[in-house]
Amino acid sequence: MQTNPSLEDPHTASPTAARLATAIRAVTKEYVLKSETVRALRGVSFDVPEGDFVAIMGPSGSGKSTLLNLLGCLDKPTAGQLLLGEDDISQMSDDELADVRSRRIGFVFQSYNLIQQLTVVENIQVPLYYQGRLGSDERRRAVELAQMVGLGDRLDHRPSQLSGGQQQRVAIARSLVNDPYFILADEPTGNLDSKTTEEILALFDRLNDEGRTIIMVTHEDEVARRAKRIVRLKDGLLRSDHRNSEADRERARVEQQESVAALKQREEQE
Ligand code: ADP
Ligand code: MG
Repeated sequence: MQTNPSLEDPHTASPTAARLATAIRAVTKEYVLKSETVRALRGVSFDVPEGDFVAIMGPSGSGKSTLLNLLGCLDKPTAGQLLLGEDDISQMSDDELADVRSRRIGFVFQSYNLIQQLTVVENIQVPLYYQGRLGSDERRRAVELAQMVGLGDRLDHRPSQLSGGQQQRVAIARSLVNDPYFILADEPTGNLDSKTTEEILALFDRLNDEGRTIIMVTHEDEVARRAKRIVRLKDGLLRSDHRNSEADRERARVEQQESVAALKQREEQE
């Protein structure tokens, strides 16, 4: 359920608690229009410990994109606190916010958002380019990330020469190049068929097993069931926050793999 908003420093509150990737404390967001004020978030609180894998769900208009924009440092809360590591983004200037955004958040989008003229390795390096970091160390790091997502034999391909799943793997490698607080994924499998969805979710599983924190918005139940935790929003409020058991996650994995296998069998018969 909803946790109490607390002003304690999350890193010293309890010596045994996991460090927090982010803490959202009584966050509200209002959009002031000429005729009305829209209360997109009405006081949302939850913590995301490092190593968590959270799916954010909720009907259209419930505040998912607003929350994602705040977590991605694209915007600031109207009230409340949003901590990234040690820092409260609501206290930051726009320049500081832009800096955190480009240095410490790993974005993954439904439509990949790759630059068509650049190769796989160059696309992975894009976040570093904005920081003027483009030496041989950076290139080596991008190559390692490409290999890590299984694209070691596609280093000089351009996005148009890759499948959707491969493009999304480039985007995931790009999201990791800055060692982010967390991967922020907005409908990462929204454009993908079941087989490719499975490939991307398996990659998320692996990254999460290695300790990466993942926060993803999805409207697909079978995708959300793969996360460790589902946070549901409704009307700008946190409606529920529950953990998926390992057994449930495994069941979701098996079901997804079965539907991929069934599809493959059908294709072979055709
Ligand atoms: P979701 O992503 O869950 O569909 P949003 O966060 O996009 O929800 O929207 C939550 C509410 O805030 C909706 O009522 C929406 O119309 C409103 N809203 C979102 N962005 C803006 C904006 N830039 N200006 C005014 N109202 C907005
Ligand atoms: Mg939205």
